[in-house]
Amino acid sequence: MTDKLISIDLSESPYSNDMVHNRWHPDIPMVATVKPGDDFIVECYDWTGGQIKNDDSAADVRDVDLSQVHFLSGPIGVDGAEPGDLLVVDILDIGAFGDCLWGFNGFFSRNNGGGFLTDHFPEAQKSIWDINGMFTKSRHVPGVEFAGLIHPGLIGCLPSKEMLAEWNQREAALFNSNPQRVPPLAALPYADTAHMGRMAPEAAKGAAAEAARTVPPREHGGNCDIKDLSRGSKVFFPVYVDGGGLSVGDLHFSQGDGEITFCGAIEMAGWIHMRVNLIKGGMAKYGIKNPIFKPSPITPKYDDYLIFEGISVDEAGKQHYLDVHIAYRQACLNAIEYLKKFGYSGAQAYAILGTAPVQGHISGVVDIPNACATLWLPTDIFEFDVQPGADGPTVALDGSINVPLAPDLGG
Ligand code: ZN
Repeated sequence: MTDKLISIDLSESPYSNDMVHNRWHPDIPMVATVKPGDDFIVECYDWTGGQIKNDDSAADVRDVDLSQVHFLSGPIGVDGAEPGDLLVVDILDIGAFGDCLWGFNGFFSRNNGGGFLTDHFPEAQKSIWDINGMFTKSRHVPGVEFAGLIHPGLIGCLPSKEMLAEWNQREAALFNSNPQRVPPLAALPYADTAHMGRMAPEAAKGAAAEAARTVPPREHGGNCDIKDLSRGSKVFFPVYVDGGGLSVGDLHFSQGDGEITFCGAIEMAGWIHMRVNLIKGGMAKYGIKNPIFKPSPITPKYDDYLIFEGISVDEAGKQHYLDVHIAYRQACLNAIEYLKKFGYSGAQAYAILGTAPVQGHISGVVDIPNACATLWLPTDIFEFDVQPGADGPTVALDGSINVPLAPDLGG
């Protein structure tokens, strides 16, 4: 039987579990040690540590304490791992807990987190997605059902002292270029809500003041939110400290490329089964700075797409120079406008783009002045025909699919 290295109790606060942490720091002690070739199971809280509930109000999304995220399980030490090695992680399987077969997707309020389309959707909203084996549906977004491309949003090894200092220096410089901005340009260290795992209280106090937040992806991987890092994939992580220190969390049942809704994909608590191996000196051998990975041999099969183009001209008609962020935003907005013609609200369409196996591509970055980004919407996830045709979008226009997302019911 496979060892379960880390157990969690969803009825208890993640702060009471010393095999969980929510910051990156080289001195966070390993909670377990394994050998190359070992496989094991790790349980994970959802990224917010249980702050979001399975109900029809988005007050929890509106009021979420984002300084607490992400709750990660680990770090796990690997015998013989040294800086410069590659830690090879086979993601063997991932699942939700049998007594917790649901996940959430939401948009943060502009004043507390924001998101990719926060100017268009400034209020907190939420949809709940039920997990039925490998499929998911939402009572807040009728008319769609799809297979989960289940993956960890966040996985990586502990940074070295030098790497942590570099992260803090460059992110503070960016933050300080516009410190009043809402949402902020970067999430800087914040000691008050830090959970430093098994660090002794005195040492933890000092370390928490400099420990990196878990929000961005960085050289070690971290919060990459890559939907294709799914069960069956194999990841090669750079090692920066003795033992490596592998941590994982932020499990997603499904996500569209870009995780544009930010809160987030279909977020869930659950378990992940992994196997580790080492490539000694692998970083130099293969010239690796950021992780590389091989995708799963098994993925949900969606072959037919409607593909929406976007260019780097913003909503006000202003021309931008080869800006793929703006181009992808336009592709997303174009897809939302299209889906609204079938009866969805804008918020429902946005939720579909954040949760379904939507692909995002950078299609052109040289044709001055416009970048071209494309959003690939799988057509087979819909229970009605979403193809354009001579008769127009008649199928779902009776309004039966336009039910509200859980709104921010508070004042
Ligand atoms: Zn997530």
